[in-house]
Amino acid sequence: MLTHKKVTKSGGITIPRAVRQGAGILPGTAVDIITDEAGIHITKHVPTCFHCGSVDDVISRFEIEICKSCAEALLEGFTDGTDE
Ligand SMILES: [Zn+2]
Repeated sequence: MLTHKKVTKSGGITIPRAVRQGAGILPGTAVDIITDEAGIHITKHVPTCFHCGSVDDVISRFEIEICKSCAEALLEGFTDGTDE
């Protein structure tokens, strides 16, 4: 599909509805914008752990995406290993 769009003064571009629907990008969906030698690519954002790169059991807190395993490893640093 080839579509021409003009960039707005604020740098915005409206992604055509058919393209959004085909990519599963609903209103409010986060997207990743990746540039390379071929151009600019927009893909649906997949939450990924900032530390290990896992996409399983990832939550977002304080604008940081972290997986359950890494979060548990971090939490161990705040405990002394006893129950009390
Ligand atoms: Zn992780």
